[in-house]
Amino acid sequence: MTGGMAAPQSDGTDALPAKVIEVVNLKFKDYADDGLPVRRIPCASRRMLKLARTTRTAGLIIVPFALFVLELRKAVQEVGGDPRLLLAAALPPTALLLLALASLVTTALSDPGVIARGDPEYCLDADKAPRVEHSVNGVKVTSRWCSTCKIHRPPRAKHCVFCDDCVHRFDHHCPWVANCVGLRNYRSFVTFLTSAFLLGAYVLIGSVHIFIRRANERRFTHSEPLNLHFFRTEARVFGTIIFVGIALLFLGNLLAFHIVGIAKNRTTNEEVTHPYEGNNPFDEGVLRNLAWFLRGYEEDGRWKRTAATNDDDNFSNVVDDTKPTITEEV
Ligand SMILES: [Zn+2]
Ligand SMILES: [Zn+2]
Repeated sequence: MTGGMAAPQSDGTDALPAKVIEVVNLKFKDYADDGLPVRRIPCASRRMLKLARTTRTAGLIIVPFALFVLELRKAVQEVGGDPRLLLAAALPPTALLLLALASLVTTALSDPGVIARGDPEYCLDADKAPRVEHSVNGVKVTSRWCSTCKIHRPPRAKHCVFCDDCVHRFDHHCPWVANCVGLRNYRSFVTFLTSAFLLGAYVLIGSVHIFIRRANERRFTHSEPLNLHFFRTEARVFGTIIFVGIALLFLGNLLAFHIVGIAKNRTTNEEVTHPYEGNNPFDEGVLRNLAWFLRGYEEDGRWKRTAATNDDDNFSNVVDDTKPTITEEV
């Protein structure tokens, strides 16, 4: 294997103990010799939890959709029962439902970007662990030591307390699928949000249309008032409107937040913690940020690495490291 680690500087002021260099190198061990990422297999219980949470979330989408389709069929029958009309009205939400479920399952069961752990035998006091500095577009980014995973986390990675793993480009831990959202499943997560929002909007508009049409028919055709009995009769469509309306407020807010995040190339975690003090080095303009999102984030090789140091002032040993490599043990 070829070495990719910076050599200590000749004056010895920031020369690193051999053991420290070895620990720093461990962070690249999520790449096998052939350069492909090593993926850890989640335990069975974690899979069961993901399955249960995902099923619950899917149920919250499927139930109102099914109620809407029943009302849709009834409404079509009220205006003549043309099967082509029913097909045309039910096709878009069905396609959105399938897309939402597929992206939901993908987000829940895929690897969000778990980073392989380092040597479990190696102990390093977190308080004394050297920080690894990276220069990203001229901004200093610090990699912190994870005492659980025994690695220096790459930039933007974070240890998830629920999954007990460090995750590349950690966005957040999603309780709706019991999985992290990170480097490898962020696009499927946003696809889920988008398709679920569009499905909800379609169901809401359709339900309101059905409700208003029946209300008008009752008032103007049959000259009957809109009393409690009417709302009881139309409980299914009225309940769908209330439930989907509330869900859309939540979904719309979340989707807007992530659209802004994609435009700025910032994660939810970065929005909360503000690690760059208002100068996000990963923000390269809306169009390039959007292109990054669409083709999938590839963070490795985009940053330059400096030597590990305990001294904040020692920030000059920059290495042009275009691709992470596993370095021979020192
Ligand atoms: Zn960790
Ligand atoms: Zn997690």
